[in-house]
Amino acid sequence: MELNIYHLYPEHLNLYGDLGNVNCLKRRCLERGIEVNVVNFTDDEKPDLNDGDIFFIGGGSDRAQQLVYKDFLQYKDVLKELIEEGRAVLAVCGGYQLLGTSFIDKQGNNIPGLSILDYESKYTGDKRIIGNIIIETTLNLEPNKLVGFENHGARTYSKYQPLGNVLVGRGNNDDDMKEGIVYKNYIGTYLHGPVLPKNPHLADHLILQALRNKYGDVESLEPLDDEIENKAYEKFIKLYGK
Ligand code: GLN
Repeated sequence: MELNIYHLYPEHLNLYGDLGNVNCLKRRCLERGIEVNVVNFTDDEKPDLNDGDIFFIGGGSDRAQQLVYKDFLQYKDVLKELIEEGRAVLAVCGGYQLLGTSFIDKQGNNIPGLSILDYESKYTGDKRIIGNIIIETTLNLEPNKLVGFENHGARTYSKYQPLGNVLVGRGNNDDDMKEGIVYKNYIGTYLHGPVLPKNPHLADHLILQALRNKYGDVESLEPLDDEIENKAYEKFIKLYGK
């Protein structure tokens, strides 16, 4: 089996080591004998999105989001269709905000979102949300918590299934104690870390969904030796959990 991992705009959206998410997916595939092609989709390189099996878009500054919006506008309908078809997508923070309908920046400017899904993000005048975060995920994962850190000024308001309910931290906004969104195999989240090395069970979830979407009946993934990852995960919960 083979998976094409598309990294969208690594030159603009790669805050806090979000590239580590792509490296994590690649290694967890290769260690299982799954061939992997990491494909960069950038200002200058536009490989065919239809060949992507997993898409990753990372975090970035408000300005970076504006640059990516302008360049990706002509491709947004293709990604929207692929999400409807069930392709796996992980969008972190700025990338997550960008796929929504609108993004109101700190100065009140409306940086249009790509409107790939119907949710909005806006600065509310409150201080940035910065800190460690633990959520109880709505996905059927074992363990059922996801850990990371968040650093965003804008708040996101959504009616979709959340990725999780906030146990520690703030999440999407200051009101509903929800974090992220899940729509088919699209996951939007504020969890940096990078989120996948911190939560190998979420990485495997994305890999499994991508394999099932491409090859049909893939029962499960063979387990990997995650002793170090699991120790780090448990330490995080012990240190920051309530
Ligand atoms: N620029 C966005 C904000 O501050 C996203 C930041 C990020 O990607 N960490 O809300």
